[in-house]
Amino acid sequence: QNVPVVTIDGPSGSGKGTLCQKLAQHYQWQLLDSGAIYRVLALAALHHEVALDNEEALSLLAAHLDVRFEAKDGNTLVILEGEDVSLEIRKETAGNAASKVAAFPRVREALLRRQRAFREAPGLIADGRDMGTVVFVDAPAKIFLDASAAERAQRRYNQLQEKGFSVSFDHLLSEIEERDHRDRNRSVAPLVPAQDALVIDSTSLSIEEVVKMSIDYIDSKL
Ligand code: C5P
Repeated sequence: QNVPVVTIDGPSGSGKGTLCQKLAQHYQWQLLDSGAIYRVLALAALHHEVALDNEEALSLLAAHLDVRFEAKDGNTLVILEGEDVSLEIRKETAGNAASKVAAFPRVREALLRRQRAFREAPGLIADGRDMGTVVFVDAPAKIFLDASAAERAQRRYNQLQEKGFSVSFDHLLSEIEERDHRDRNRSVAPLVPAQDALVIDSTSLSIEEVVKMSIDYIDSKL
């Protein structure tokens, strides 16, 4: 457990993904995208026609989930049961379904060990909602990255457009608000900053500014 972990939690679209990639590059550490695991689980449930409200079946599926992360050309491919689902898991339907399955305590429990296994030398950057509050409570540096819902919807809109998905901004904003509400109000591992986290509101900050603040903070903690 001496391998250091930096946890980055926050709502969707706060810029966690980009920040984590830059930090993993900067420190040359492992990266855990825990949201991808919940997204893959949701996709597996849809593929196997497991109802998104069936906690028992979902936790079984979670315990046996056949998912691999493969580095390729600087990207991470997500492979579910041998199939490349890297693009499919990024769709909003997958994100929304993920936040439904993620609300079940037994599902979260079933995924704990899988997430902790990412903690390998020389260190880990962990991206999620409960990295600092549940999964890596002993992490020496914890960041909570926030931004207004409108700003996050705008960023997600730009991101999806770049990837060639056509979406409506208003629809995206209401989906983000719905997902936030579910993530913040669930009974287990709700989205809240850890008591010992540095909270960064990125609404009017550039990614470079957020990265610099984060590195200064992390270096002071390691
Ligand atoms: O971060 P991302 O948007 O990929 O996460 C998808 C969903 O997975 C979130 O809305 C949240 O409900 C769930 N999640 C979670 N705990 C994590 C990471 C993601 O509950 N550590």
